[in-house]
Amino acid sequence: MPELPEVETVRRGLQPDFEGARILKLECRRPDLRFPFPERFVERLEGRIVTALSRRAKYLLADLDSGEVLVMHLGMSGSFRVEQQADSFLPGDFTHARSRDEKHDHVVFHLSAPGSQGPEAASRIVYNDPRRFGFMQLVARSGLSSHPLFAAMGIEPLGNALNADLLDRLFAGKSAPLKAALLDQRLIAGLGNIYVCEALWRSGLSPERAAGDITGPGKARVAARERLAAAIRKVLEEAIAAGGSTLRDHAQTDGTLGYFQHSFAVYGREGEPCRTEGCKGTVLRLVQSGRSTFHCAKCQR
Ligand SMILES: [Zn+2]
Repeated sequence: MPELPEVETVRRGLQPDFEGARILKLECRRPDLRFPFPERFVERLEGRIVTALSRRAKYLLADLDSGEVLVMHLGMSGSFRVEQQADSFLPGDFTHARSRDEKHDHVVFHLSAPGSQGPEAASRIVYNDPRRFGFMQLVARSGLSSHPLFAAMGIEPLGNALNADLLDRLFAGKSAPLKAALLDQRLIAGLGNIYVCEALWRSGLSPERAAGDITGPGKARVAARERLAAAIRKVLEEAIAAGGSTLRDHAQTDGTLGYFQHSFAVYGREGEPCRTEGCKGTVLRLVQSGRSTFHCAKCQR
């Protein structure tokens, strides 16, 4: 399942072709994905200019010049790929030889070159989703923040909003374990299991410690919050950088690329030595709220 860094990687991969482009034609090949497509979906998109492509948690948001926002979620297996019009002139383009099954191409955006007024398509952005847990919705920009998908959503973990002071406010009085508090989407939006495990390991904090235990005054508590906030941002930024380079190597936008597997310090490493310098501990796995937590009991306190 794509996590936040993968979605951000996809966003960055699509941005150059999507932003400023006009949707000349939309092929919608099914009535539904996880949910039905919006009413008059094709009509509401064709002819519109995508004025911005942003992200909120794991949702991609394409702002349209009609005042609506195309909200897109990749679900479990959704991916986008960009096909430049010029590609069709390259015989045997290797990027197309990947396990791309066209029967799962559900939505195709035919786009003008960004800023161009002409009628020629410069690229096609294809949404492929074998399991169809993804979805697309159209929401008025003015009602986006109060929309049920976003109304209860916590803050973005990337960017300046997430800092020690904010963690202090979010976690004050909370007896839930740090692991559960960090996965709570109403507090911080879009943080997934892998990155929570990695961030806790980096900050030397036990996933079982009560979230409220790192709030309030006291040098050690402030330091713990600062380490945690920095670790969350760092682990996500590194994952995006890794995904970005994968993306460039393949010259294609594909949600199945960009996982940060090679660099996990604890995730999936049960029984292996802890990588904290000087720590002779072993990575352990425990189950919290039905999900695996990987941690080192020796250096995570
Ligand atoms: Zn350790």
